[in-house]
Amino acid sequence: MDLALERVSHRLREPLRAAWGVVDRRELVLVRVREGGHEGVGEAAPLPGYDAPEGALDAVVAALQAVVGEPTPEAALAALPDGVPHARAALDMAAWDLRGRREGRPVAALLTTDPLPAVPVNALITAEDRAGASAQAAGFAREGFRCVKAKVGVGDDAGRLAAVRAAVGPDVAIRIDANAAWSLEEAVANLAALAPVGIELCEEPTGAPDQLPALRGCGVPLGLDETSTAGVFEGADAVCLRLGAHGGIAAVMDAGRAARAAGADVYLASTFDGPVGVAAALHVAAALRVTRPCGLATLRLLAGLDDPFPPRDGHIRVSQAAGLGIAGR
Ligand SMILES: [Mg+2]
Repeated sequence: MDLALERVSHRLREPLRAAWGVVDRRELVLVRVREGGHEGVGEAAPLPGYDAPEGALDAVVAALQAVVGEPTPEAALAALPDGVPHARAALDMAAWDLRGRREGRPVAALLTTDPLPAVPVNALITAEDRAGASAQAAGFAREGFRCVKAKVGVGDDAGRLAAVRAAVGPDVAIRIDANAAWSLEEAVANLAALAPVGIELCEEPTGAPDQLPALRGCGVPLGLDETSTAGVFEGADAVCLRLGAHGGIAAVMDAGRAARAAGADVYLASTFDGPVGVAAALHVAAALRVTRPCGLATLRLLAGLDDPFPPRDGHIRVSQAAGLGIAGR
């Protein structure tokens, strides 16, 4: 097995502010695994301040360089230490891509017998003012998105969301994400205040899964995202799963099954991943037959990139090519 690493960088078209901070650039590492005349590619995309500490990409590179001499991708995965889920995710993606290319089948078809042909996706509202958010939301609705998502805990939430509702009408779902910005008391008050807008789901109201029962009755369905890696899903209406934070395709398939067993719906999101990470998440979402819109229409937020998976009518088609179906890499 040959294992090669390549650092890549993507600038966001415009900075995005969430309760945890601002993101304006994504630094990623591509992992290429060659074996028997085939190549598989994976991607590590830790986001410092969100799902990884500062300097996380250096730790990812170091962890992957330490397993370069392993004979197979499986041996390299077994040799990785705990605590570097993004490195594990990249190597795991590359291993699945390699296997798919070797067998001539898309990864989704390796994961299940009946994957979805297309995955429902939401659009992300990045504007922080009422007029801007309203205009973006109306544009997304015209494009055919059936779900739009907005950050909350960043100011003027009620006014901005009311403007979004007015723009999209009653039939488009509005998802909000507090990114753990609120205390329990703030969440009780804010969710009750926002409920009349008609909210599909609030991701991470407080960052504490054990507080979800206390938020029942606020009139807003409750979701986990950042804290989903704890594996405690009881009380959540839905759980957002990410390949990087969970450590790859197999780990997210397992977490998805566990969340459903606990009574929660599941969906996937990218963390402003590059094309490889988004492709892998699309295959997993298709294999899990996810029906709730996924946060995977994010490549359009990266500058200088021709989106290889453009959404149409609120869905992204899953590549039927071998492996992850990334062309021209
Ligand atoms: Mg979230």
